[in-house]
Amino acid sequence: MRVLIVEDEVKMAALIRRGLRSDGVAADVAVRGEDALWMAGSTEYDVIVLDVMLPGIDGFETCRRLRGEAVWAPVLMLTARDSVEDRVQGLDLGADDYLTKPFSFAELSARLRALARRGPIERAAVLAVGDLHLDPASRRVWRGDEDISLSAKEYALLEAFMRRPGHVLDRYQLLEQAWDYEYENRSNVIDVYVRYLREKIDRPFGVSSLETVRGSGYRLRADGGRAAAGD
Ligand code: CA
Repeated sequence: MRVLIVEDEVKMAALIRRGLRSDGVAADVAVRGEDALWMAGSTEYDVIVLDVMLPGIDGFETCRRLRGEAVWAPVLMLTARDSVEDRVQGLDLGADDYLTKPFSFAELSARLRALARRGPIERAAVLAVGDLHLDPASRRVWRGDEDISLSAKEYALLEAFMRRPGHVLDRYQLLEQAWDYEYENRSNVIDVYVRYLREKIDRPFGVSSLETVRGSGYRLRADGGRAAAGD
């Protein structure tokens, strides 16, 4: 197991590194987020321990850029304050876990082992299908440079499609993803909302990304519909 520790407090970084090494774990230290980016880009780490408070770009921005550069190693964030906002922001930016300072080394070590077992999983913070984008953290949707305003249900339905681009999803699967059990009148609600979605994500852009698959359901084209623009 090889761990990257991103922490500017020399004592804290040394403490973590010493503990990990006595557990037989290889550990490198980066003092700045910028250093972490190139180190994680050239070495495959099993886990990255990322402090929020760093000189230069902070831990949040470092995490966002790591994911942006397709580094999918699990990230554990260290937050100094017991701040809910910090933890939420970290998780939304692609972190996998967090630990609030001060922490016990035994807990850090256990969490790192759990994260390493998960392995690197591709999980972009922003979903992109062709030029169609959806950011689950800010609930923003856009195509190309243009923002698209969706109702809560339209958004939920689009998110279900964007998590499985190119796959045919039947009405039942879509209901399961976007509607809760309190919704009783389920007859044609999906068809209605797919129509609404097409009016917003396709028609104004002259594309057709949401395809009807007769007898089965609907599919979001893996290219986001852009290839159909010239048809
Ligand atoms: Ca720090």
